[in-house]
Amino acid sequence: MSKRFVIIGGGPAGNTAATYAARMGADVTLIERDILGGAAHLWDCIPSKAMIATGGALSQINAASGMGLTDVSASLDFDALRGRIATIQEKLRASVSGMLENQGVTLLQGTGRLKGPHEVVVETTDGLTEIDADVILLSTGSRPRIPDWAPVDGNRVLTTRDAYPPPELPEHLIVVGSGVTGVEFVHMFSSFGCQVTLIVSRQQVLPQKDPEVAAALEDDFIRRGVRLYKGARAVGLDVGDGGEGGGGGITVRCDDGRVAVGSHALLAIGSLPNSEGLGLDAAGVEADHGYVVVNHNCQSSVPHIYAAGDLSGKLPLSSVASVQGRKIAEHAMGLHVGPHRHLDYEKAASAIFTVPEIADVGLAEADAFSSGRKIRVTKVPFSANAKALIENDARGFVKIISDPATGVVLGGSIVGRNAAELISVIALAVTAGLRVTDIVESLLVHPALAEALADAAE
Ligand SMILES: Cc1cc2nc3c(=O)[nH]c(=O)nc-3n(C[C@H](O)[C@H](O)[C@H](O)COP(=O)(O)OP(=O)(O)OC[C@H]3O[C@@H](n4cnc5c(N)ncnc54)[C@H](O)[C@@H]3O)c2cc1C
Repeated sequence: MSKRFVIIGGGPAGNTAATYAARMGADVTLIERDILGGAAHLWDCIPSKAMIATGGALSQINAASGMGLTDVSASLDFDALRGRIATIQEKLRASVSGMLENQGVTLLQGTGRLKGPHEVVVETTDGLTEIDADVILLSTGSRPRIPDWAPVDGNRVLTTRDAYPPPELPEHLIVVGSGVTGVEFVHMFSSFGCQVTLIVSRQQVLPQKDPEVAAALEDDFIRRGVRLYKGARAVGLDVGDGGEGGGGGITVRCDDGRVAVGSHALLAIGSLPNSEGLGLDAAGVEADHGYVVVNHNCQSSVPHIYAAGDLSGKLPLSSVASVQGRKIAEHAMGLHVGPHRHLDYEKAASAIFTVPEIADVGLAEADAFSSGRKIRVTKVPFSANAKALIENDARGFVKIISDPATGVVLGGSIVGRNAAELISVIALAVTAGLRVTDIVESLLVHPALAEALADAAE
């Protein structure tokens, strides 16, 4: 009899695991309470990048005079953008559900929870169903954290769930939180022409990132007229009547006494795991602050119950969730019998879709210094790159970090056009243990932005 594999949550972790496990012969049931594709398709990655793409096109068209064009201009059609996002979401949902159906996965629309180590209960519109399982994957994702001082109404006080797109285009948006999500929002709404104020609790945006990278982004924000409240922690939010023209009305109070006034506020201050009511205790699954504790195979304290994606408390990235899903399917189906590569979260590439775009992977310069590790850092600006000049955007740089003794590539960061694509080369080098000379000696295309990688590797 084939293995009964039950998955709760159909985001990137759940649907990837379902596809692979079914392909390997498991009898897979996938339970999803909302939309297949998960938060990633509905609220996070996809709608955010669709809005950023529209903002990017707008900025590029309006900057076309720098490329020898005249009389070119564009303006935002907010309803058309709303329709575009809905179309992309529907295409992706249909593609995920088509793929799962083709693999013979049973899809259940409902809310799932553990009843015991081998029993899952699903609440559907028809009532409760109980399913027995040999293997269970918990991949229920996460949701935005809302502090108790913020009266979120989905209208003028928003979380990331309300903002793609928001009910109306804000005249003046106050973004609270300057991590990856916060800065993407700043970029997106300022590219639509909104006034934006960013509350930054530390002294730099993107506190986890290389200070040089963060500085490049801050410079760009300041050039666009974004107001930065640095070293200020938001502690209160009041909703007024909107004021004349709807431009005022939201007041965000900070712990240092400063007050930001705008028309809308958006909270981007982290997330919480979706583990309440999931029955972790009933099955004896250990959790830490709501995140399921997992080992390097993504197994929980109950070995046949796995957790992946945001719920596993590892890197909250869609890309990581999908790879975890694939690894879990392979492990549960007994494929990991010989030596194989475990997931190394420290080698995960990530990107921030601002302009300039930012991407990094592997060892960061600051971490190497703080641990006393000897490194070689080489950096070249895009201003020396022919393709960047041709494309009229030579902002940013490529930085490569390598081992001075062996030349092995340990990490890198890229700020500039197409950084999210270009980082793949450094990510491959980091994962495969390649040396800088391997990049230098690759016969690359000319003119190409990637030539900056070879120059930085010299
Ligand atoms: C604004 C924003 C932008 C982002 N952009 C990117 C990006 O560009 N690139 C990137 O790699 N990552 C990005 N992320 C992170 C990414 O969205 C998450 O890491 C990813 O969605 C996690 O996938 P998951 O499978 O764990 O969960 P999710 O995608 O959250 O899916 C979980 C699913 O489980 C369902 N569910 C929950 N509880 C139950 C239950 N009891 N029963 C049944 N179903 C249930 C939910 O409805 C949901 O569909 C972004 C995040 C945010 C907030």
